[in-house]
Amino acid sequence: MTGIYIHIPFCIRKCPYCDFYSLPSDSGTREEYTEALIKNILMYKGRNISADTVYFGGGTPSLLSVSQVERIISACAEAFMLDDPEITVECNPDSTDREKLSGYRQAGVNRISFGIQSAQDCELGFLGRPHSFSQARQAVYDAFKAGFENISGDVMLGLAGQTYVSLRDTLDKLCKMPLSHISAYMLKIEEGTPFDCERVKNSVAGEDELCEMYLQTVEFLEDRGFKQYEISNFARDNKISRHNMKYWRCCEYLGFGASAHSFFEGKRFYCPSGVGEYICGGAQKNVILEEAPDRTQEYIMLGLRLSEGVKLEKLCALAGEDFSRKFIQRSRILEQNGLCRIRDGAVSLTPRGFLVSNSIICQLADS
Ligand code: SF4
Repeated sequence: MTGIYIHIPFCIRKCPYCDFYSLPSDSGTREEYTEALIKNILMYKGRNISADTVYFGGGTPSLLSVSQVERIISACAEAFMLDDPEITVECNPDSTDREKLSGYRQAGVNRISFGIQSAQDCELGFLGRPHSFSQARQAVYDAFKAGFENISGDVMLGLAGQTYVSLRDTLDKLCKMPLSHISAYMLKIEEGTPFDCERVKNSVAGEDELCEMYLQTVEFLEDRGFKQYEISNFARDNKISRHNMKYWRCCEYLGFGASAHSFFEGKRFYCPSGVGEYICGGAQKNVILEEAPDRTQEYIMLGLRLSEGVKLEKLCALAGEDFSRKFIQRSRILEQNGLCRIRDGAVSLTPRGFLVSNSIICQLADS
């Protein structure tokens, strides 16, 4: 089944570490953009496409009003055959309140993902986030009281001033909240962002410290029932992100909105339009990235991000026996070094392996 991704490229202001495409917006622009999205989604009406996830990502999708989210979901229901869909909205704690969250719930949203990042206000200040931790905690409880049972929180590792103690305190506070899912990302200094300067580079965690923070995070979360299912993602009660799993399992998804990417009917394509152009009908201009992606390379690259790993039977069907034999031989060497496991007919990386996943993927994809 297909996943539907809705890109909302608006933010109140730009965080200094972020290189995503996002802009400030007024309510008129958000309304025009919503209408353009609806038109774009309805182009798929009548094609009998079944979908089981809808994901509002950004940017800051929670800048949309309840009515805008509701109308977009209705358009999805009109254009696609929605089957017990997981419907997620990414939210920033400063752009939600109890009323809006209740409205989203009534509109059919059943999963919320909050950008919490840290429980320490000084670390949030370093990130230039417009919310405090008490606001984030309030937002999570507001969502819970609004009826959400599937709530995710993002946390960031490697921040200036972050210590092992402050990180554990953040994780501890998150685990005590009604969250079913945590995403833990390592801060990466992106080229061309305000963080791309010596002052910031010298103040954040070094590589060894960052790796240790990651390993401690995995252990801490696993101890509290958050099972790791992907490099950066952990779920309690098996509440994994069904939508994001589609990316990692090479399933189809259709992206709508300015700069949204898709993988559909075997092709990868994206919408190159900016917001203004998209509003004026730029949805027509999808650009093909790959006509026929290399399925073996993609399967290895994405499968090794997951704790379930690369299934050898599937690899053999995709790439043949010779390739699979070499893949297993190389995996055995990595296993001896504690970087991967070969178990139940699959090769998966250990947390230490995840830390060097790029180089492992290069080695194994070249089997
Ligand atoms: S809120 Fe998210 S998408 Fe927007 S600027 Fe900050 S990090 Fe980037």
